Amino acid sequence: MEKVGKNETSSAPEYDVVVVGGGPAGITAAIRCMNHHLSVLLVEGRKLGGQLIQLYPTKFIYDYSSYPEIRAGYLADRMVHHARYKNVPMQEDTPVESIVKEGKMFRLSTPRGNLLTKTVIMAIGMGLFEPRKLGLPGEEEFMNKGVTYAVPNTDIYRGQTVLVVGGGDSAVENAIGLSSVAKVILIHRRGSLRAIESNLEVLENSLVEVRTSTELKEIHGDDRLRKVVLYDNEEDRSYEMEVNLVVINIGFSPDLSLVDKAGVENDGNHILIDRTNMNTNIPGIFACGDIVEYTGKARQILPALGEGVTAAEEAYNYIKSPYWVKETGEEIEVDKEKCISCGACMSLCPKVFQRDASGKSELRDDADIRLPCVDTAIEACPTQAITLN
Ligand SMILES: Cc1cc2nc3c(=O)[nH]c(=O)nc-3n(C[C@H](O)[C@H](O)[C@H](O)COP(=O)(O)OP(=O)(O)OC[C@H]3O[C@@H](n4cnc5c(N)ncnc54)[C@H](O)[C@@H]3O)c2cc1C
Ligand code: SF4
Repeated sequence: MEKVGKNETSSAPEYDVVVVGGGPAGITAAIRCMNHHLSVLLVEGRKLGGQLIQLYPTKFIYDYSSYPEIRAGYLADRMVHHARYKNVPMQEDTPVESIVKEGKMFRLSTPRGNLLTKTVIMAIGMGLFEPRKLGLPGEEEFMNKGVTYAVPNTDIYRGQTVLVVGGGDSAVENAIGLSSVAKVILIHRRGSLRAIESNLEVLENSLVEVRTSTELKEIHGDDRLRKVVLYDNEEDRSYEMEVNLVVINIGFSPDLSLVDKAGVENDGNHILIDRTNMNTNIPGIFACGDIVEYTGKARQILPALGEGVTAAEEAYNYIKSPYWVKETGEEIEVDKEKCISCGACMSLCPKVFQRDASGKSELRDDADIRLPCVDTAIEACPTQAITLN
């Protein structure tokens, strides 16, 4: 693994691309950058492999093309192995704390020192997230003494009685996974679960006991968890149940502090990007994977991989400005006489074209016409009003 000097400031190592986040999106982006012979560093705040390693390593994945079923931990290992095989420099346990633009470079600060880079690919998933908590009596006291928010290894719960709390796919999948070794009760406060149909089908045929309209109210024990108080909100009735383990799967609180500090546009939960090119509002910062939001976004491994490739391509275009990507804003012209205000260029390439007061197309002041979508807009213009000189 690449060493980053402690407390380096002026002599910070320099890269073409720093990929922040070592999940599926970041690993794929870094491999693509290596193929372009860019100097790249992948910086991971916790463990390489992202959510697959940190949240559900023993769970099977059934929707990754080429493997009808594969354990998440194994798939993540294959991804990390691929990156190592490609000699991608990677740094674990190195959270990036800030990203600041300095001239043409970005300065990233980490507890191990500073980094300078021409571009940044933010592949940070949910950021350095924390699991959502219920805030119940006993929850803090019995954390890791019978209360958990992730199931890294189902085997250690063999023969135990486990209560899983939640109604989404994580809860359902954890309940199913645990049911092969433990007695499992899945509770959800609403009248029905909200997991994907294939998971519900497996659940129905599993040994998991499902109790809907049921809430966890209290957690009790001595040196470790012994029993819980449940509340049936349909019958308005509370009762006790002896359990060895409570798994709380009600989602995660994303941490967007790095995104905010960098000035990257977001909606409080995700980075808002242009799907066509994974560009953020800051030229030179790209984003991919679970952290991004656009119409139709699916938070799954496969889209994260594709977005990682696109982000890497964009970083390459940004750094190298190859001949097929246009160089300067002055080269592009919109002939107002020819423009019929159809709007095609503005919707295909909104970072370059905008409507003027009369509705016709004009170049944005901050237009970055190195974007590949400029070519698409030129081709789409029905009147040949756009030209590159
Ligand atoms: C329980 C569960 C089950 C799932 N099952 C499936 C499934 O069956 N199939 C499927 O396709 N998808 C599944 N998913 C979704 C899938 O895991 C995600 O879509 C995928 O992990 C997204 O990859 P990513 O690289 O964008 O983000 P992540 O995997 O979240 O990786 C982001 C990485 O960035 C790091 N990071 C964050 N902030 C910083 C920082 N400041 N500095 C440095 N590093 C940072 C994090 O530590 C993390 O390792 C599941 C998710 C969960 C929670
Ligand atoms: S695509 Fe051509 S005609 Fe349509 S708005 Fe743009 S410049 Fe005008």
